[in-house]
Amino acid sequence: MTQPLVMALTKGRILKETLPLLAAAGIEPLEDVHSSRKLIFETNRPDLRLVILRGSDVPTYVRHGAADVGVVGKDMLLEFGSEGLYEPLDLGISRCRLMTAGFPDAPRSRPRLRVASKFVNLARRHYANKGIQAELIKLYGAMELAPLMNLADEIVDIVDTGNTLRANGMVPLEHIADVSSRLVVNKAAMRTRHSSIDALVKALRGAVEQGVAA
Ligand code: AMP
Repeated sequence: MTQPLVMALTKGRILKETLPLLAAAGIEPLEDVHSSRKLIFETNRPDLRLVILRGSDVPTYVRHGAADVGVVGKDMLLEFGSEGLYEPLDLGISRCRLMTAGFPDAPRSRPRLRVASKFVNLARRHYANKGIQAELIKLYGAMELAPLMNLADEIVDIVDTGNTLRANGMVPLEHIADVSSRLVVNKAAMRTRHSSIDALVKALRGAVEQGVAA
């Protein structure tokens, strides 16, 4: 029998919003993925297995072919690159914006602006495109703390309602990109497993068009 198709999912908020789309496409994990400590899940379809990863690892698993397909935020693709991946479908879930943010009316007077972010690559590109010299400081969480503690002048972060920024006295400044979760496919698998992947893309596109996630 051929190996099952492996689909890498992003844990957390994206996973919660992905499961209804999978269900509408006829794919159900055999166990509760939220309560189980397992990382690999069989589904009602013997030809499809799920693995649940951090978003930053999904492009790596799919690029190297350890997973054939994946669901990941566009922010991760912008940060880690889409090399070796096709991005055939916008799932329209976990929508948010990548923004720069800082204190209102703070002058950009330093020779090098200090910018804290989880997304140092895309942030560096954004400031370079604007002709601003920026020193990027990599953080792994609570980006809003960096300007408050004078570690950075600005941050680059995900903004949804803007409540987190406001609660910390900051405002969104520049829009970098709109973000939603995407279906990504390993380029080699798209050729070698074309019919299974094509059927999966079509089923998920149908679920997105039905508005299951809304
Ligand atoms: P908010 O206060 O609604 O602007 O949300 C801000 C925080 O929620 C961000 O710092 C993110 O960590 C998180 N967040 C909001 N939307 C998303 C999303 N779609 N995906 C991942 N994290 C998100």
